[in-house]
Amino acid sequence: MKIDHIGIATRGIKESAGFWREALGLEITDTEEVAEQKVRVAMLPAGEARIELLEAVSADSPIAKFVERRGPGIHHIAVRVDDIRVALARLKEKGARLIDEEPRAGAGGCLVAFVHPSSTGGVLLELVENRPAKGSEDVPGGSDSSSPKRLRVPGS
Ligand SMILES: [Zn+2]
Repeated sequence: MKIDHIGIATRGIKESAGFWREALGLEITDTEEVAEQKVRVAMLPAGEARIELLEAVSADSPIAKFVERRGPGIHHIAVRVDDIRVALARLKEKGARLIDEEPRAGAGGCLVAFVHPSSTGGVLLELVENRPAKGSEDVPGGSDSSSPKRLRVPGS
């Protein structure tokens, strides 16, 4: 098992990325909006793991609430698993409190699921299954890369 990334709640990606880029020399490789979680995400690779900067895109985003209550800071730790459903079943069997019983869409086309801090000693834990890495996803050979749109408007 590897640490996939460390999620950091920010008031704004731009302002906090300044520190990571200028003071530590990390680069943002990816920015995307994960509509399902109402966040904008920037990934900064750091060795084999990544720093994930999170910014709320609406006032009812979990990140907005987190920052409001505690200020910016470490929000969660994400570990990479081979099969997220197997990992979830095992956690459930061990009595862990799951926030997501079913995996959902995360940044970068991954499947993610969160485990409640009350089960992990106070750390919000994210499981990540990297779908493309499994090689089972069919990538159409067509030149038109009309990838399925992941940004769904949450049913309001
Ligand atoms: Zn994350």
